[in-house]
Amino acid sequence: MRIDLHAHSANSPDGFDTIDSLLASAKKRGLNGIAATDHNKITLAHSEMRKGMFLLQGVEAGTKQGHMLVYNYSGKLHTDAFELVEKVRDENGITVVAHPFGMRKDCLRENTFRVKADGIERFNGRSLVSNLACVLNRFAGVGGSDAHIKEEVGNAYTEFGDCEKIEDIWGCLRKGKFSAKWETKVGTVALAKWKKIKKMLK
Ligand SMILES: [Zn+2]
Ligand SMILES: [Zn+2]
Repeated sequence: MRIDLHAHSANSPDGFDTIDSLLASAKKRGLNGIAATDHNKITLAHSEMRKGMFLLQGVEAGTKQGHMLVYNYSGKLHTDAFELVEKVRDENGITVVAHPFGMRKDCLRENTFRVKADGIERFNGRSLVSNLACVLNRFAGVGGSDAHIKEEVGNAYTEFGDCEKIEDIWGCLRKGKFSAKWETKVGTVALAKWKKIKKMLK
């Protein structure tokens, strides 16, 4: 079971495609689903199966410490990462530190393991530096493309062993039963950045 756990739709200010087109792109690339993780906005009311694909409820929350991925949660998005992890856990949701060791200031870095999230993003489809830090330090974690256009979907993803239902995925995430994959297609991230620049110039 292959799921891209980090994808932005047009519901993010810097995203371009609909959730359905992200899903279609995931299918084309041989994945079984995606998590919709728009910036500071919980786009889906709940997780669901859509056209045979897993569509997981998520969000990428900007906190004081950096970006956090949150799944299976529809409560308040606290702006302190420590508080957020606690509240999400109380509601049976899941937290993952996004691109933990990237160059930008929206990365948790030294707080990555202090916040006691359920996991970290070992492979991010866009953050070479963060991925290398995770590999060199042998940090286990999930994979997600951080797609902002449909072409980026699947650039990184998470492979789950025996998961059939949405509930199984949450179970595997909590128990650390998964592995991260990274296979960024040349040119896709550049295409997304180019689209963003064109939009800004309009
Ligand atoms: Zn981010
Ligand atoms: Zn992101």
